[in-house]
Amino acid sequence: MTFDPAFLSNLLLVLTAFGGAFLAALWISLVVWTYRDIRARTRDPLVQTLAALLAAVLNLPGVLVYLILRPPRTLEEEYQRTLEEEALLQALEDLPLCPGCERRVKDEWQVCPNCHTKLKKTCHNCSKLMELAWNICPFCGTPAPGMRLEGTGVDEALRGLKRDDELGEVKIE
Ligand SMILES: [Zn+2]
Ligand SMILES: [Zn+2]
Repeated sequence: MTFDPAFLSNLLLVLTAFGGAFLAALWISLVVWTYRDIRARTRDPLVQTLAALLAAVLNLPGVLVYLILRPPRTLEEEYQRTLEEEALLQALEDLPLCPGCERRVKDEWQVCPNCHTKLKKTCHNCSKLMELAWNICPFCGTPAPGMRLEGTGVDEALRGLKRDDELGEVKIE
């Protein structure tokens, strides 16, 4: 088998051209990829330019260095993380405080385990937990002991108390 030297040199030329074009495409795509990636991770234009330059000048080794040095989280991930942290903090703040010792207590606790302050009372009819200030059970509608049904508003409750006092006085007389 003999090769025509002209054909061989032409083949080499075509192969070199293809190889060169492929390398150039790879080079450009690496720069583009780096630029896109850094834009998702930082808003600092200087860092964006430096990262693109690193990929443009050093190419593959540059991208390797970039992968090591780039910010670990994208802006989107960072945003999600702050959201989660805020939600956690909010959940912590939403826990009620004991009026006696200011420690965090749970909604279903009747008494503060630390200072023994009464936190909730139970309905004498259905035994569900009620806030101390409630004078009617929201679950079964039974008025709390010593409260009248009409005493739902503060004014009504006060009027009810006054009426009770008057009645008491009448009884004493
Ligand atoms: Zn307490
Ligand atoms: Zn009840």
